Amino acid sequence: MKAIAVTPGAGVPEVVERPVPEPSPGEALVRICRVGVDGTDYEVIDGTHGGVPDGDDRLVLGHEAVGIVEDANGTALEEGQYVVPTVRRPPAGVETNGYFERGEPDMAPDGEYVERGIVGAHGFMAEYITSPVDCLVPIPAELAQWGFLVEPISITEKAIEHARATRSAFDWRPESALVLGTGSLGLLTTAMFAETLGYERVYCLGRKDRPHPTIDIVERLGATYVDSRETPVPEIPDVYESMDVVYEATGYAKHAFQSIEALAPNGVAALLGVPDDWSFEVDGGRLHRELVLHNKSLVGSVNSNRRQFEAAVDTLAGLPDWLLEELVSGVYGLESVDRAFPEATARVPAAGGSTGSDSDDDTTIKTAVEFTSI
Ligand code: NDP
Ligand code: ZN
Repeated sequence: MKAIAVTPGAGVPEVVERPVPEPSPGEALVRICRVGVDGTDYEVIDGTHGGVPDGDDRLVLGHEAVGIVEDANGTALEEGQYVVPTVRRPPAGVETNGYFERGEPDMAPDGEYVERGIVGAHGFMAEYITSPVDCLVPIPAELAQWGFLVEPISITEKAIEHARATRSAFDWRPESALVLGTGSLGLLTTAMFAETLGYERVYCLGRKDRPHPTIDIVERLGATYVDSRETPVPEIPDVYESMDVVYEATGYAKHAFQSIEALAPNGVAALLGVPDDWSFEVDGGRLHRELVLHNKSLVGSVNSNRRQFEAAVDTLAGLPDWLLEELVSGVYGLESVDRAFPEATARVPAAGGSTGSDSDDDTTIKTAVEFTSI
């Protein structure tokens, strides 16, 4: 079968031949339909995040997938059912551990898990995968074409759940939300605040010039686009309002601290970005005081569990079709894999001296690879 693999830090994604996997007891064989590409994939391709399985020099990419059960292998799943795989699995050679037994692998520390397509385990960019059935979340056929968005939506389901939990000791009634970042995670989350979470006022911060499709999406959602070059995060309360919730999806480390200044009293900021090391000055005393005297909260969040994937399927059903169509700027077959990874191919000089694929314009929002049409 065909799969898409990379040598992290040393190449671009390539189509490779691999044997079709055989399901073990308790596992199903899944024919993959579509797999999304996000910022994490580029970090894996660059070798700055994640890593290959022990004994391998290449990693099959992909952690945002939707497929169809090909062989239920005696499990409770039905053949022909569309499913979305979760990402974390126990480390190689370990059957389970307390985090997996409790259904909370997303809370496992380093060393207690691998992540398919990211660290220590091959991903879902292959014609077939096998997976334990408790890591396969059913999705209705009518949503299957967008099923690869369930994983990123589940990331936000978890972050919001943890943010809410920090405010659960009092009668919290949030109305305003600010999303930092206009990447696919930021845009999906802006849509969730506006469409499914019922926030009255939603803002999304980016650094794009108008006209731009991401700004069009933000505004069509009824949200306000904030240009970080004109209004840096600490100035947002003066120019717009202070926020009940801030959701950071830029990976820009200063935003973690500036979020405290953008929050209203009793607000909470969820941090999702994964920055590199970066030393800079902050007024720690002022930020510490702000957190304490205004009952503010900061919470970091990574990955998501099966329950949050299930919530994400419901959320996906509540997002408007126009949004999904605008957000997914391209779905590409194996014959044009390079177009699914425009940022990776753009960095590699092509024969003749120019760089990359012609799909690498600044309007690409989210791409996916298609193995089997839906
Ligand atoms: P992208 O790289 O697609 O998006 C990041 C966005 O942030 C880009 O639109 C970028 O703008 C914008 N940005 C960066 N710096 C600034 C700035 N100073 N001012 C305004 N905008 C800025 O990534 P994703 O959307 O896929 O993911 C967002 C972040 O979340 C990443 O750091 C990623 O690693 C992380 N992540 C974390 C997960 C978790 O479980 N915690 C899961 C998935 C992702 P521009 O396009 O102009 O460069
Ligand atoms: Zn991801």
